[in-house]
Amino acid sequence: MENKDQKIKDNKPEYNLGDVVIMKKPHPCGCDRWKIIRVGMDYKLKCLKCDRLIMLPYRKFIKGVKRRVTSE
Ligand SMILES: [Zn+2]
Repeated sequence: MENKDQKIKDNKPEYNLGDVVIMKKPHPCGCDRWKIIRVGMDYKLKCLKCDRLIMLPYRKFIKGVKRRVTSE
């Protein structure tokens, strides 16, 4: 019998499409908020201020992300 509660207890940070996150390193434009526009092996982020796109491997993203911001 599968226990679904077990999976919920697994306290992994989950980041989904459309989430806005704060990265440890701000963009050179001064903005540290990014919107996730692609998830998977690579995460694609869009700078909320200047709309520039960056692509990060999942591991780098997890290392660099500070926290999730509630979407506005
Ligand atoms: Zn920027």
